[in-house]
Order: sequence, then C-alpha cells, then structure tokens
Amino acid sequence: MSASAIDPVKLEKLAEVAIKIGLDLQKGQDLVVTAPMAAAPLVREITKHAYKAGGGLVTTFYNDEVVTLARYEHAADDTFDRAASWLYEGMAKAYANGAARLAVSGDNPMLLSQQDPSKVARANRAMSTAYKPALEKISNFDINWNIVSYPNPSWARQIFPELSEDDAVRKLADAIFAASRVDRDDPVAAWREHNAALHRRSKWLNEQRFSALHFRGPGTDLTVGLADGHEWHGGASVAKNGVTCNPNIPTEEVFTTPHALRVEGVASSTKPLSHQGTLIDDIQVRFEGGRIVEAKASKGEAVLKKVLETDEGASRLGEVALVPHSSPISASGLLFYNTLFDENAACHIALGQCYSKCFVGGADLTPDQIKAQGGNSSLIHIDWMIGSGEVDIDGVAADGTRTPVFRKGEWA
Ligand code: ZN
Ligand code: ZN
Repeated sequence: MSASAIDPVKLEKLAEVAIKIGLDLQKGQDLVVTAPMAAAPLVREITKHAYKAGGGLVTTFYNDEVVTLARYEHAADDTFDRAASWLYEGMAKAYANGAARLAVSGDNPMLLSQQDPSKVARANRAMSTAYKPALEKISNFDINWNIVSYPNPSWARQIFPELSEDDAVRKLADAIFAASRVDRDDPVAAWREHNAALHRRSKWLNEQRFSALHFRGPGTDLTVGLADGHEWHGGASVAKNGVTCNPNIPTEEVFTTPHALRVEGVASSTKPLSHQGTLIDDIQVRFEGGRIVEAKASKGEAVLKKVLETDEGASRLGEVALVPHSSPISASGLLFYNTLFDENAACHIALGQCYSKCFVGGADLTPDQIKAQGGNSSLIHIDWMIGSGEVDIDGVAADGTRTPVFRKGEWA
C-alpha cells in the first residue's frame, strides 16, 4: 500500500538525521515521541536509531485522524471544553526530568475544515491551556527538541489531488526528503554545513545592528523596525540542558524579533496562507505604528479579520525571517499547507507572539522587559510569506545608512 511508495533507505536516513542532528539525543536520555498513526514506519526507524545512539526509554503517543473526526461527529458538546490534561502533565514531568521531545508532523491540514469552527476553537483553547506547562519547556528550550515530517496519505492527497494515492505519497515523500537534505550522500554532514551557513548569516546580521529592514517588491513597501537588543537566530540552537539541537527539519530561515510599535507601510503576501483548514490568499495589509490598520484578502478575508481580532498583539508582528528564493523548498514550487515547510520557502513575517530567545540575553529577560524592548505578545503566532524572486531588502542603520541585504530574493 502507500507506505511501499516511500523509499525505505531515505526514510531511515530521515530517522537518523532526526536523532543525530534534530535532537543529538544523549546517552541515557529518555525520548517522548508524538506522531500520526500513519507515520508508524518512520517512528519505528526513529526508535531504532534512538536506542542505537544509547538513548534511554522511548515512549510514543499516536494520534489517529479517524478518531479525531469521530469526536467531532459523536462526542458530547461539553467534551470540547476539555483536554487530557493528565497526559500533558505527564509530558511536562518527563521534560522536567530531562527527556527530549520529538514530534512527527504529517496530519491532513484540512482535516477539520468541514467541522463546526466554534467546536474547533473550543477544543484548541482547551488543548492549549492543558498543554501549556509542557509546551513552555519546549518553546523555552529547557530541553532538546525536534519536528520532522512524514508523508501521510491524507496530507499527500491534499497537495496532489490529481494523483493516485501512491503517486501522491511518493511525490510528497521525495519533497520532504529533499527539503530535509536526506537525499544527499551524507545527510548528517550536509546538515552540519547548512547549520554553519545559517550561523554565518545570523552572525553577520547581528554585527550590523540594523534598526530596521526595508522590504520592496510588488505590492510591498514595508519598513520593519527591529526590537531593541534583538538577536538573529538560524539553524541549530543550544538548549538550556546544553545540547545543540535543530528544532525544525527542514529549516532555511534566519529570524529575529521586530519592534511591535515600529512597523510602517504596506505588505502583500506572495503565497497563500493555510490557517486551520482555510486558505487565505492575496493578503494586503497596511501598518501604522506597528499595527495593522487595514487588511484585505481575495480569499478567506473574514477568517483573516477574525485572526487579527484574537487579541491586542494579533495585529502586530512577532517575527521577521529571511529565506532565499533559491531554498530547496521554494525551488519545489509546492504549497505544502504546512508552516514547517511553507515558512521556509520565502521571507516571512509573523503576526503575534515573539520569541524571547531572539533578544540578547533573552533567556533572562522578564515578559515586562521583553515588552519594553519592543517584543510583541499574543496567543497566536502565524507566519505568512512576503518574499519572492522580486523582493529587495535593505538593512537600515540608526543613522539612516542603508546596506543591501537581499537583491531579487537572494542574499546580496
Ligand atoms: Zn519563521
Ligand atoms: Zn514563525
């Protein structure tokens, strides 16, 4: 069946990259894995590599799309305000005890598109609340963590609706393998080289100390002020447990925190944004004093406006990221309907929450200090693409001096 459409050698290499580069799983370190059921072939390889690397106990939690849909169809209404908090408390405890975290993504991004949006929102809220203690340990980098992807048939058919299931899975598998650099002879070495390149870019940007970036392209003339004491990051990160991990596989971006109050001008999206089962296309926004004061979209405008109303920070920026137009994901020309891939295809900005690690000494800053330096806060963090082969970016210094950063979508 579909699993046989996937090259077993590359699948094994992906598992090896996840353990050695994604996590650098330590001797004796326990591992918590979450995955869709369809991804069992990858989870089996991951588990094998985890034990071969000398890891501790590997524990996997599977979810199943059919079971998720059964809940929306048959579960009592009050269950949508609840989540399995006991499970997430257990995960938080595992991380507090030093376990690493690996998430396999690959679910159908449109799974819930036909379900009652208010039930989806309630279930998301209950889940976010229950998950918070565990998620904080991950997003604060208390531990080494990683996300890799598996070509679930339901996701593959979303991207290639015109193909048979086997052909769709094969094509998505190849795209994931290329983007994850496991199509190279020595993927582990390829990742070391890629990480070094991303570090060089971030280091250069950190040395420039730009106070703003100016984006120019079709429908875009946008000045993104950068937060005071911002720091650029990209590629591997050192977690607080001392382990160097690559949280996202793939990753192509270098990114930092914009100033929540210093964004001016207009921006147009260069790729559709897939948000909880809705496609939002041709986004056009105007910023004043950091806030979006006008927003339009040719498709999904009502959903976009609802997103912007989530809270005060939802109409301000929490991230700006640079990705060359020649990145392997961009070169694939595919829309993956999955942020992990789509945000690595083009330069992007994100509405909502900023990353505390994108400040100099960020780990020690309080939320009030982060706010004072211009960091945005919100319940949401939604990336959308404004980069293309036609976009130029200048770095603007405090005295107004300009330095070319991108020309025609590539590093200048
Ligand atoms: Zn990003
Ligand atoms: Zn982001």
